[in-house]
Amino acid sequence: MNARLQTLLALSLLPGMAAARSASNAVVVRGVRLIDGTGRPPIENAALVIEGGRIRSVGESGAVRVPKGAKEIDLRGKTLMPALIDLHTHLGLTRNGLEAAPGSYTTENIRAQLERLLAYGVGTVVCLGTDEDLIYELRDEQRAGKLPGARFLTAGRGFGVVGGFPPGMGAGDRYRPKTPEEARAQVRELARHHPDFVKMWVDDDFGRLPKMRPEVYRAIIAEAHRHKLRAVAHVFYLADAKALLDAGVDALGHSIRDLPVDRELIDALKARGVIYIPTLVRDESTFAYAQGPEWLGDGFFQAGLAPTVMATLESPQFKERFSANPDLARYRAALEMGKRNLKTLLDAGVRIGFGTDAGPPLRFQGYFEHRELQLMVESGLSPLQAIVCATRHAGEFLGRASRLGTLAPGQLADFLVLDVNPLEDIRNTEKLSAVWQAGTPSGSILAQ
Ligand SMILES: [Zn+2]
Repeated sequence: MNARLQTLLALSLLPGMAAARSASNAVVVRGVRLIDGTGRPPIENAALVIEGGRIRSVGESGAVRVPKGAKEIDLRGKTLMPALIDLHTHLGLTRNGLEAAPGSYTTENIRAQLERLLAYGVGTVVCLGTDEDLIYELRDEQRAGKLPGARFLTAGRGFGVVGGFPPGMGAGDRYRPKTPEEARAQVRELARHHPDFVKMWVDDDFGRLPKMRPEVYRAIIAEAHRHKLRAVAHVFYLADAKALLDAGVDALGHSIRDLPVDRELIDALKARGVIYIPTLVRDESTFAYAQGPEWLGDGFFQAGLAPTVMATLESPQFKERFSANPDLARYRAALEMGKRNLKTLLDAGVRIGFGTDAGPPLRFQGYFEHRELQLMVESGLSPLQAIVCATRHAGEFLGRASRLGTLAPGQLADFLVLDVNPLEDIRNTEKLSAVWQAGTPSGSILAQ
């Protein structure tokens, strides 16, 4: 990670931090089962000492030294785990979650979305390529402690193709370079805003749309690197993933969904230290509403919805319209391939991150992160493996200076308080009783 981003992350301790820092007293949380995010087995009956928004010490309850005068909080019977970090989201694309209404990209709407994400236990999100320039003002506000909710990082305006990906979103707010020269100039323009990442789309919608040419994405990646920015690619096809790796891409922002991954890809991912971010729930959302997924009835899902949304999702007209999509079978197959590839890559030792692609219509921020964990477990990961992807691995991708993703001394005190152990059943991440951000507790979505 580049030094400038490290400094910014270190400085941007963000919401809750200022308040927590001014309180000089330490807090000790006791009696919990603690999943620290590293992949180690949980500590039963742990204590966690928090000071200035950060974790000061953690361990077996009897073994942790507690500063004099620390406030004791007894959370006996609860399980703590790091807050979720979603490496692939979008902000401000819809108001009600159902349609992409124009005028959704406002401070007020983005603020509401960030607050909802945090109430669902998502401590940090990376917004990949659909932001407008307003995002940089909001990022400054958040760093100054004035914008509550999930922390966010942004790729600003992403790079797509004229008449191609990303489809169905206004053209004015993306770069769509036609030549490598244009691509380089646009990356330079983007870099002036100091985005956290650079995003590009490499896809052709089952051959129906023009795909970004390799010389263009090579130029984007090279120019991004010249500005010490890391490049994240939307990808669908195995062949494109290999070509992107060859071009130096830093992260794959979706599952590979056309073919089983092979040794060549695994070797390239590992050799280059590239993180693979499956977004299984995104693929599920492309077909599941035709029948109404089982989770429509989940109170944790419903807790975050605008009032009329359920009525729409359950209406026969909506389901009929959704079922008429001729691509449903392909979408279903894409999810199955994505799940199979996730298991193969994890077993091969590839670094797996965590993402949802939530934020566009019908991809519900907050709930989708929990559903993604469930789909990862359905793919064959253990609950602990899935949690590590969504905490430690995602935090490491943001950089060590982010101090996110694990519950260890020096890290920010961002964690979930769960009523039931998620290692027994990953669906227990939905039994969310509180969310702490930089040492400050707030209520979960279930309390709102
Ligand atoms: Zn996306």
